[in-house]
Amino acid sequence: MDKHPLLTSTEAAFEAMRCLYCYDAPCIKSCPTAIDIPTFIRKIATDNLVGAARTILSANLLGASCARVCPVEVLCESTCVYLEQDRRAIPIGRLQRYAVEHGASADIFPKQSGGGGSVGLVGAGPASLACAGTLCLLGHEAVIYEKRRLPGGLNTTGVAPYKIDLAGALAEVAFIESLGVRIETGVEIGDGVTADDLLSRHDAVFLGMGLGADSKLGVPGEDGAGVFGAIDWIERMKTEEGCSLDGIRRAVVVGGGNTALDVVREFKGLGVEDVKLLYRRGRDQMSGYRHELEAALEAGVVLLENAVVTEVIRDQGCVVGLRAAVAQDGRATSQSMNDLPVDMLVVAIGQAKLRGLVSAFEGVALDEAGRIIADPQSFVTGHPQVFTGGDAYNGGKEVVNAAHDGQAAARAIDRLIRGSSEGCDGA
Ligand code: SF4
Repeated sequence: MDKHPLLTSTEAAFEAMRCLYCYDAPCIKSCPTAIDIPTFIRKIATDNLVGAARTILSANLLGASCARVCPVEVLCESTCVYLEQDRRAIPIGRLQRYAVEHGASADIFPKQSGGGGSVGLVGAGPASLACAGTLCLLGHEAVIYEKRRLPGGLNTTGVAPYKIDLAGALAEVAFIESLGVRIETGVEIGDGVTADDLLSRHDAVFLGMGLGADSKLGVPGEDGAGVFGAIDWIERMKTEEGCSLDGIRRAVVVGGGNTALDVVREFKGLGVEDVKLLYRRGRDQMSGYRHELEAALEAGVVLLENAVVTEVIRDQGCVVGLRAAVAQDGRATSQSMNDLPVDMLVVAIGQAKLRGLVSAFEGVALDEAGRIIADPQSFVTGHPQVFTGGDAYNGGKEVVNAAHDGQAAARAIDRLIRGSSEGCDGA
C-alpha cells in the first residue's frame, strides 16, 4: 500500500502537460515552503528532472518526504485552478515525488567555500534535517545529536508506512548527509552531553527534538502486552524485523487526530478485519483531516463517537476487551457501553512535551501548552544562541511546517554567525 505511488514517465509527462503554468499560481501560495510548482512541473514536461528537483529542493530540502506525507488535499492541490472547473487537480505531490526521486543528488547545489561557524542540532527529525542541510549549503558545519538508533524523526518512526516507508525516510536522511551534515545517533542530551557542552562546542544550537513519548489513557489494565502508544507502534512496524500483526483480528485505536487516522488506515491495509476508531467527541470535532477520515471509513473502519475507554480487560495477561462509557463533552458519563472484544489497542491521543530538556537551556521558555517560545520569523528563543522549530515549537504540525521552520532558523543562524546587521530578530 502506497498513498502516493511513484508515477511512470508516461504518467508524469501526461500530468505535467496538463498543468496550465498559471501566472500568480495559487498552488504556490498554499505551499508552506512556497515551492515554485508551475516551474518544476514545466521542467518535468521538458524532461529536465534535475532542474525540477533543484527547483523543489531550493525551496524545501525535504521535498522528497513532503511529496509523500504532505496533506496535499488541503494544501497545494486544494487550490489548483482545475478544481474551479470541477476537473481533477494536477497531482502535484506525485509529480514532486517523481522529480525528486529521479533528479535529486548532492551535486545539484553549488559546493560551499566553508568559513562559517558550527551549529549543534538536537534531534534528527524533519526540522533539524532541514535546518542542518540549509546551514551546510550556507557554508557552516552542522552536527545533529539524535538519541534514537535511527535518524529521520517522525518520518522514520511516526508516519504510517503506507505514506512513507523506512527506506524512503532514510533515503532522505542520506541526501541531507550528502550535503555535509553529520549525524551522531545514540546521543541523548543531558546524559553524557549537556546543554552547556553544546553551547560551548557550537556557535548556535537548534532544538528540533519534536515531542516526547506517547500520552497514556490512565485506565486500569493499560500497562502490558497488547496496548501500544501510536508512535511506538508505528516505529515498531517500520523498524523492527519480524514485527507482524499475525493473530490480530480486532483492533481499536483511540484518538481523533491524524496519527489515529494513519494507524486505522494502516491496520486496514495490513488486513485486520475489525478496526474501530474510538473518539471521545463527535466527528466534527476531530482534529484529523476530514478527507483522511472519509478514506478510513471507506476502507471499512468503524467510528465510535462520544466514547471513552474506562478499562482494558485482560485474561491471563492478554488483552481481550475494552470497557467503555458514553462521553459527553469529551468526558466519561456514568452510562456504560457494551464491552468491546479486542486483540489490540493503540492509543493515539498525543505526545508529551520535553520540558526537562528545554529547561536545561537558560532563557528558553515554554508556553502554557508546553511549546518552546520563539520569534515566529527567526525562530530564536529567549537565549540568543538557541533556536527552535518543528513540533517542539508548534506543538505538532506537518513535516512541511517543520521544513519551513528549520530553513528559516538556518538563515537566522547564518546571520547571527556572520554578524549581519539584520540580526536574528526578523527573518
Ligand atoms: Fe498547474 Fe494547478 Fe498550479 Fe495552475 S494551480 S500552476 S494548473 S498545479
